[in-house]
Amino acid sequence: MTAPATRRLKYLQGYCGDTVARVEQLLLANRLGDWLQNKYPAAHQVRTDKALYDYVQQLRLACLRGAEPLAKVLFDSKLHAVQHALGTHTSISRVQGTRLKAKREIRIAALFKEVPPEFLKMIVVHELAHLKERAHDKAFYQLCSYMEPNYHQLDFELRVYLTYLEQSGTRLWGQPEPPGISENRTAAGS
Ligand SMILES: [Zn+2]
Repeated sequence: MTAPATRRLKYLQGYCGDTVARVEQLLLANRLGDWLQNKYPAAHQVRTDKALYDYVQQLRLACLRGAEPLAKVLFDSKLHAVQHALGTHTSISRVQGTRLKAKREIRIAALFKEVPPEFLKMIVVHELAHLKERAHDKAFYQLCSYMEPNYHQLDFELRVYLTYLEQSGTRLWGQPEPPGISENRTAAGS
C-alpha cells in the first residue's frame, strides 16, 4: 500500500507528478544525496550571525537599495524547516516619542549554516524580497528572480534537500564548527 509520492513528499507539493516521481526514484535507490552533492559539492562559509548580517547587508545594498535598513539578522536554531520559507522577516513596531518606529529583522533557520552557497542565497533573497512585497504573489517572485535569476530552480532543489533530510536524518554539508564559536547564542530581545 503506497500513498502517492506527492502526498508523502510534503516539501514537493505543488510540483508535477513526473518531477516528484524522479525524486522519489533517486530516494528509493539511495542516490538522492549523491545527486545533490554532485551538483553542489561544498558548503558556504557564512558561519556566524555577524557573517550572515554582512552577507545579507551586501545583497541588500546590491539589489534593494531602497529597502529599509535591517536592525538584526541571525541564524535561529528555533526555526524549523517546516515553515514555507524557512526564515522569517518581522517588523517590530514601537512608539518612540511620538513616532512609530519599525525595526526590521531577518531570521534564517540554523540548518542554513550547512548548505551550499546557492541555497543560502536563495533563502536570503526570499526574506529580503519580503521587505518590499509581503505576500507570495507575482510581484514577490519577480523580485526574487531579479535578485537571483535561478530562484525557482534553487527553490526546487532546496526542497529536494529538505526531503532528503527528512527521510535520511543526515545533513549533507555538515562541517565542524571553527573553534571559539558558540552554538548557544540566544536570540536576545531587541
Ligand atoms: Zn515568504
